[in-house]
Amino acid sequence: MTDCIFCKIISGEVKSQIIYEDDFCVAFKDLNPQAPTHILIVPKKHIENIAAAGEDDALVLGKLQLAAAKIAKENNIKDFRLVANNGKGAGQSVMHLHYHLMAGRRFLWPAG
Ligand code: 5GP
Ligand code: ZN
Repeated sequence: MTDCIFCKIISGEVKSQIIYEDDFCVAFKDLNPQAPTHILIVPKKHIENIAAAGEDDALVLGKLQLAAAKIAKENNIKDFRLVANNGKGAGQSVMHLHYHLMAGRRFLWPAG
């Protein structure tokens, strides 16, 4: 998608600190971190959010979560929070599906 900041990061048009990449997803550091570790894991395919995903996206959705587990393991992170905001009312500001992988501090529950 031409006007999507995460598509631009995936294509390299916009610079970011990419820390992981495979055939399905890219992970990079959040520009405005809310925890000592705050990584965004995004599919290479532009999907707006989880609600917009279809049956065809089952593999990529699984790959995103497996990428999160891999990144955590590679960084010796045992406890982490994996969050996907779905829709503006739930705090989604970038309309390209992404998981926030956050670690390194205490997290409250229920989430704020
Ligand atoms: P959301 O609010 O949609 O769940 O999360 C979007 C996240 O993307 C925010 O945490 C925000 O800091 C991050 N973000 C927005 N624009 C950029 C950018 O250009 N580069 C990076 N690395 N992160 C971004
Ligand atoms: Zn996109």
